[in-house]
Amino acid sequence: MNRRQFIAALAATSAAGCSQDPPPDRYNQADVAALAAQRETERNRNGLSPFGVHRYQGYRELAQLPWFELNSEGHLICVDQSVPKSIDVHAHLGMSVLFKPKLDLLASHKRVKHLLDCDGTPACELDLDTYANGNFSEDALKVLQGEIRAQGLWGSEFAATQTVPNLLREMDAMRVDQAILLPIKLGLWFGDELTEDWRKAVSEAGEERRLLSGFSIDPDGEDPLFELDFHAATGARVMKLHPTVQRFYPDDPAVMELYELAQDLGVIIFFHGGRAGIEPESSHRYAMPRHYEAALANFPQLQFILGHAGARDFEGMLTLAQKYQNAWLGIHGQGLTNLDKMIAQTGGERLLFGTDWPFYHIGMSLAKVLIATDSAARASIREKILRRNAEQLLTFI
Ligand SMILES: [Zn+2]
Repeated sequence: MNRRQFIAALAATSAAGCSQDPPPDRYNQADVAALAAQRETERNRNGLSPFGVHRYQGYRELAQLPWFELNSEGHLICVDQSVPKSIDVHAHLGMSVLFKPKLDLLASHKRVKHLLDCDGTPACELDLDTYANGNFSEDALKVLQGEIRAQGLWGSEFAATQTVPNLLREMDAMRVDQAILLPIKLGLWFGDELTEDWRKAVSEAGEERRLLSGFSIDPDGEDPLFELDFHAATGARVMKLHPTVQRFYPDDPAVMELYELAQDLGVIIFFHGGRAGIEPESSHRYAMPRHYEAALANFPQLQFILGHAGARDFEGMLTLAQKYQNAWLGIHGQGLTNLDKMIAQTGGERLLFGTDWPFYHIGMSLAKVLIATDSAARASIREKILRRNAEQLLTFI
C-alpha cells in the first residue's frame, strides 16, 4: 500500500464520507449512470451483431469453430495454417506479491488454471458478445478475489500454473509468436517486484525473443522518474500504468513529467483504460476516458496503448483513439459487436491484439478476431490486428 492508497483507506473508514467525494469534473452521477446504461445496452443487444450468438461451454467448445480443434490431450489448438502468427500486446504471468509465497515460474503443468477457469468442472458459459469479465459468475468472481488474495499471502493454486512454459505452450497452440508481459507495480511496502521476477524467469528460460518484458512503476512512489530511467536502461520499452489499481488520474499534472521522460526514452505507455466494472467503485473516478485526453494531446510523439479499448467505457475511448494518432486500442475484452464497430470505424488501423492471459485462454480473444474478420474484405484487417499493427508500434521503441 502506498501513501495515496493508505490515505484513501483511512478516508474510507472515516465517518465523514462526503470529504472523499471527487470533484464533479472527475466523477459524477452521469458517469455512474453511463456505466449502468452500458451494462443494459450490452445485455439488450447481445447476439444481434452480424455474427449472431456465440456462446460456448468452456474454452474447449471453441473447437466447434472452423479454426480450432482439440488435440489428443483435450487442449484447444488452432489448426488453420492461414491464421497469421500473432503478437499479443497484453499478457501477464502468475503473481506472487506481498509475502511472496513460493511460485516457480519455470514449472510446467498439465492444465493452465486461467483466472476465469472456464474449462473447470462444470465448464462455464463463455459469451463472445459481452465484455470479457461479464463471463465471471458471482461464484467465479469470489474465486477470483480469493486467488488474488492468495497471490500475496499463502500462494495461489491458479498462479502456480501461470508459468512461462505454460504460456508458451498455449501461445504455440494458438499461433501466437510473441507476447508483451505487463507487470503492475502495486506500490506495496515490500514484496512487490513483479517486473524483476518476471524478467528473471524469462531470461532463465532463454525466451527473450518471444516474451518481451514490460515494466511498471508506481507514479506515486518515491522517485518514479528514476525508476523509469532505470527500467529503460535495462532495455525494457513498454511501461504499464493502471489508473484504477494505482489510484491516479492519467492527466494529473504530477504525472506529466513521467510522460515527457518516456517520450524522450522511446518508451511506450500501456494504460489500463476505462472502468472494468468489477473494481472497487471508489477507483472508477480515475479511469474515465476524458482523463486520458491531456496525455494524448500533450505528448504527440509518445505512443499510448489504451488497454481493453476502454473496457466498459468503450465509446469514449474509441472517440479518443480516432482523434489522436498516438492512441492505439488494445482490443482485449471487447465483445463481437464492439469489435465489429472498432473495425468499421478505424479500418483496423492501430487496433492491437491482446489476450490478458492468464485471466482468460488465448483462444477466447483469438476466436473473436477470427469471427469478426471472417470475410475476404477483412483479410488484411485480420493480419493488421493480429500482427502488422504491433510490428508497426514496436518500430517506435
Ligand atoms: Zn491485464
